[in-house]
Amino acid sequence: MIPAAFDYVRASSLAQAIDLLRDDPDGTKLLAGGHTLLPALKLRLASPALLIDIAGIAELKGIEIGEAGIRIGALTTHTELLASEPLNEALPVFRQAAGLIADPQVRNRGTIGGSLANADPAADWPAVMLALHAEFEIAGSKGLRRVAARDFFVDIFSTVLEGDEILASIHIPRPNAGTCFIYRKIRHPASGFAVVGIAVAMRLQQSVVTEISIGVTGAANHAFAGGDAADFLIGKTLSQENMDRAAKLLGETTACLSDRYASAEYRANLLRIEIRRALLALSS
Ligand SMILES: Cc1cc2nc3c(=O)[nH]c(=O)nc-3n(C[C@H](O)[C@H](O)[C@H](O)COP(=O)(O)OP(=O)(O)OC[C@H]3O[C@@H](n4cnc5c(N)ncnc54)[C@H](O)[C@@H]3O)c2cc1C
Repeated sequence: MIPAAFDYVRASSLAQAIDLLRDDPDGTKLLAGGHTLLPALKLRLASPALLIDIAGIAELKGIEIGEAGIRIGALTTHTELLASEPLNEALPVFRQAAGLIADPQVRNRGTIGGSLANADPAADWPAVMLALHAEFEIAGSKGLRRVAARDFFVDIFSTVLEGDEILASIHIPRPNAGTCFIYRKIRHPASGFAVVGIAVAMRLQQSVVTEISIGVTGAANHAFAGGDAADFLIGKTLSQENMDRAAKLLGETTACLSDRYASAEYRANLLRIEIRRALLALSS
């Protein structure tokens, strides 16, 4: 449980961190909250030559609530997302999801940017980002680029981030008035990670679904948007029959993971149950 030797630099700006990353992308790791990276170092699952501590970079911090949208710095901790009143007013799903992450120790140190960049298939934030149509601002030696959440997650622990890139911030468009949200998950009893987690943003007008987006985590090798189920529900009421059909679609179109804890069949069943529960909660 002792990491291999590494050099350590505490970066004071985004530009400095990118310069250091560019010098040796394969041998360098960024350190944010450290709640994934430090255990990995101790278990020698990662042995970088250089650790760049980005925790002090001011440009990567803060929650800004604007007219058109919301900007969240990558270094914002789960606890800050849980505690922010303005964010809770604009997008209550943040408080809901943050409160379900692990325990206060993890929430106090872990960051949303670290969670998204790490792309654990069972992490909570990716589902929420997909349901909210988030875009990620990525900074690298070639400048800034924006990537939609639906295009960001590539595979287990894999994203579109290049070796010299840093996830800088998250941008979420303001939802239309009347949009309601939910995030719910079946927790792994030991870690608290999602065996299956579902985020839904939905707008009903006279009991008919006029807008809906669904983000799913835990079920497959990376988080994904439940597009077919969402498309099916547009223009329909949340009748038992329509919810069952949407749940079936979601189960059928997902290539579920299978591991020691949950078989693919079990996860597909949880998926069907959780989407029904989420829709039911939003319909009442
Ligand atoms: C006991 C325990 C229980 C947990 N339970 C849950 C849970 O229920 N749900 C959940 O979602 N998560 C859970 N987590 C994970 C937790 O949320 C971590 O905080 C998170 O995965 C990583 O964030 P971090 O800031 O600690 O990142 P770090 O550990 O510092 O970094 C993680 C990885 O991301 C890279 N990285 C970090 N920041 C950036 C950035 N801005 N740009 C590019 N790359 C970056 C690092 O180089 C590293 O490879 C748990 C962790 C522990 C230890």
